[in-house]
Amino acid sequence: MSKYSIKRGPNASINSMDDLNDLFQLAISDVMEIAAPAIGVDSFDCEFSNHIRITNNKQRLGSCRIRVVPDGEHIKNEFEISISRILFHSYDETESVMYHEVIHMLPGCFNHGPQFKKAAEAINRVLGINVETSYNATRHGNKNPDGTKIVTFDEEQLTLNDIVAAFGKTMTVGKKHYRIDGYDAKRPKYCIKVTDVSSNRTGYTTKNAFADAYANGRIE
Ligand SMILES: [Zn+2]
Repeated sequence: MSKYSIKRGPNASINSMDDLNDLFQLAISDVMEIAAPAIGVDSFDCEFSNHIRITNNKQRLGSCRIRVVPDGEHIKNEFEISISRILFHSYDETESVMYHEVIHMLPGCFNHGPQFKKAAEAINRVLGINVETSYNATRHGNKNPDGTKIVTFDEEQLTLNDIVAAFGKTMTVGKKHYRIDGYDAKRPKYCIKVTDVSSNRTGYTTKNAFADAYANGRIE
């Protein structure tokens, strides 16, 4: 059992950032030691961001995304995990969501498919944790008006290659259409360069907006 297992149990909670970071580090080592061999891989897809984003989100208790960050002359991918503070009253619930998000970083696990399930089962079996495939209503049955499932960012891997592959394509946001022209890694938030197709005006949009459109098939 883990050296942090003393915190677990019905009355345990997350009381500080140190608690959360301990849990994060523990999840990374456990997932690498237990879940990775269970699915035949031996490394994560790319490195982790060294901080966890804390949210107040009541719908999405945890999520993760790939950030493209500058790295000297180059750019690199980095995984960032978000956790809702509404979980912190329970160590076990926070733990379950934390392991869920860390498992997403294994190759082939950036979805809730067979590889993800196999990895989660290994963690649950060996550590007695209850990692679930989904935690909230928005993951289930939330449908677009045309009946297709709304896919959250969490469920879709987004790499720089995906952005580059979209250059020249059109992204639809509501009734507006934007041509994707480029990517500027130096801009922290509004990094996707676009042209409004109707006005020909150029501007920038966020990677989140791109990811949302990408995940829901609105880039063609
Ligand atoms: Zn997930």
